[in-house]
Amino acid sequence: MVSKDSPAKLAKYRRRRDFTKTAEPEGARGDRTGRRPRFVVQIHDASTLHFDFRLEVDGVLKSWAVPKGPSLDPHDKRLAMPTEDHPLEYREFEGVIAEGEYGAGTVIIWDEGTYRNLTTDRRGHELALADALDKGHASFRLDGSKLHGGFALTRTHLGDDREAWLLVKHDDRRASAHGTPDPRRARSARSGRTLKQLAALATGDSP
Ligand code: MN
Repeated sequence: MVSKDSPAKLAKYRRRRDFTKTAEPEGARGDRTGRRPRFVVQIHDASTLHFDFRLEVDGVLKSWAVPKGPSLDPHDKRLAMPTEDHPLEYREFEGVIAEGEYGAGTVIIWDEGTYRNLTTDRRGHELALADALDKGHASFRLDGSKLHGGFALTRTHLGDDREAWLLVKHDDRRASAHGTPDPRRARSARSGRTLKQLAALATGDSP
C-alpha cells in the first residue's frame, strides 16, 4: 500500500501552482497507518461552479470535477471529469485561491469521511481501487457526514474522445430522491459556512 512515487504523481498539480501565492498545500508524504482511506467533496466557485470529488488512493487524492455534484438518486448519472492527482493534505483545504492563480475562487469542504472499496473482479475477489480505476470501473461505499452508501465511478468517453467518468449512486438503503443541494446554499462540513460567507471572511469584508 505504501506509495513511493506520489511526488511524481503530483508533478502536474505542483507545476500549475505557485505555492508562494496560494494557500493550497504543496503536498508532502502522506501517513500510511492502515487507517481507512478518506474522501472529500469540495465545492469550488471557480470560472464555473463545480464540485470536486476526491478519493484517497495509494498516497494521493484521485480527483474528478463533477459539474452537478454527487447525487443520492441512483437515476442520476453525474458527469465527472478527471483532473490531476492532488496531495492528501488537499482534503483539508478550504479557503480562497487568489485571483490570477490556477483555479482562482472559493473552496469549501462540502463533505468528507472515509470510504470502503467494494470493487470485485469476475471471481468476486476484491480488486484494489487503483486497479479498478485503471480498468475503468470502481465501486465504493462512502461514509461521510452527508454522503452515505454505495457509489460507482465508470469510465466513458465524450463525443470528442475525451475521457470522462459517470458517478452514480448504488440503489441501496442510502439512496434517496433528493439529488444534490444548491451549491450556493450548501454549507461546509467543517466550518458551517457557505461559499459566500467564506469568501467574505477571507477578504475581510464583514459577513
Ligand atoms: Mn475544482
